[in-house]
Amino acid sequence: MLDCAIIGGGPAGLTAGLYTTRGGLDNVTMFEKGMPGGQITMSSEIENYPGVTGHITGMDLMIPWPEQCQRFGLKHEMSEVTRVSRREDGIFRIQKSDGTEDEAKSVIVCTGSTPKRAGFVGEDTFFGRGVSTCATCDGFFYKNKEVAVIGGGDTALEEALYLAKICSKVYLIHRRDTFRSAPNTIARVKDTANIELVLNAIPEEVFGDAMGVNGIHVKLQDGSMRQIDVPGVFVFVGNNVNNQVLIQEDGTFLCDMTQWGEVKVDLSMKTSVPGLYAAGDMRAEAPKQVVCAAGDGAVAALQAIAYVDGHH
Ligand code: FAD
Ligand code: NAP
Repeated sequence: MLDCAIIGGGPAGLTAGLYTTRGGLDNVTMFEKGMPGGQITMSSEIENYPGVTGHITGMDLMIPWPEQCQRFGLKHEMSEVTRVSRREDGIFRIQKSDGTEDEAKSVIVCTGSTPKRAGFVGEDTFFGRGVSTCATCDGFFYKNKEVAVIGGGDTALEEALYLAKICSKVYLIHRRDTFRSAPNTIARVKDTANIELVLNAIPEEVFGDAMGVNGIHVKLQDGSMRQIDVPGVFVFVGNNVNNQVLIQEDGTFLCDMTQWGEVKVDLSMKTSVPGLYAAGDMRAEAPKQVVCAAGDGAVAALQAIAYVDGHH
């Protein structure tokens, strides 16, 4: 019986592992289906993790984290969790893709989320070299430069407003002429002098060279093509929350979720189910930053320790 099962080994899960083990829980396993580190390991540069200076990649940042946790007794099991459920006696069942399962007194779910890709030519090739899905992470690299934003939902419009404060100009490229976003956000975008709306425009191809992106070709409604010369293209076309482990046999979620599939938590990362916590990018209103995911993991771990103590 585990004191705590941590599902996912990104910044949230690793920090939860550090705090639970160092905080006195004896039997903690972090289930991570791949190498620990999470999605930041895909980043070629991280500049906004406090206290870390110099040019480092996301991989550089994350390499010491598992070793630090293991010093305090965190066990890492390289397994994909398929379902977390809770028995009537309050014990959690952790089912895994190899058919085996574990039991745990508390669970911290940290499986993250994945931004969707739009599917245009060059998007994958230039991902991390001019194509980005995170304005907070990468906007600063385009200070006083022009960028393009793709999408017409709340995220695209809000991130376009954020980028407009840093960049000299933002081309907001949307495939229709109406937005899905809240009316006041649309009004703010239209009132922002350095945002140009490029509507009824389908992104066809991002082009560039060994140095990175040089621009994007979009197809307009009349069939003509427009070339927009920018070094940065931000794609905000939706987000998949990795919430599958919380789906129960009857198709419902184990705990309360938002309409967008994120886990509802309070300020202590408590879900609607006692002993179940969610941390990092998968929880509602997550800022989707490493420092925030790590902070969530620490908060959730302190709660799990208190819960397990009470549970005894
Ligand atoms: P994740 O990092 O997504 O980790 C989730 C982990 O759970 C993964 O390792 C996954 O393999 C595992 N997992 C998922 N499902 C299962 C399962 N069923 N069983 C077992 N394991 C599972 N943030 C910044 O602060 N600054 C930046 O500059 C920055 N740049 C970024 C650049 C890129 C290219 C990307 C993709 C992201 C960037 N971010 C940046 C965002 C940052 O990476 C995330 O906010 C952060 O990683 C979220 O941490 P997390 O632990 O919540 O989730
Ligand atoms: P979204 O609402 O699903 O919007 C995605 C946008 O991307 C849509 O405009 C869509 O175009 C466009 N798109 C999708 N696939 C595309 C492709 N292949 N090529 C080009 N464009 C493509 O996603 P989101 O903006 O991330 O928001 C997700 C949910 O979170 C929404 O319900 C949103 O309201 C919510 N949210 C709320 C807030 C807030 O309340 N402050 C902030 C952020 C997000 P179409 O419109 O033509 O389909």
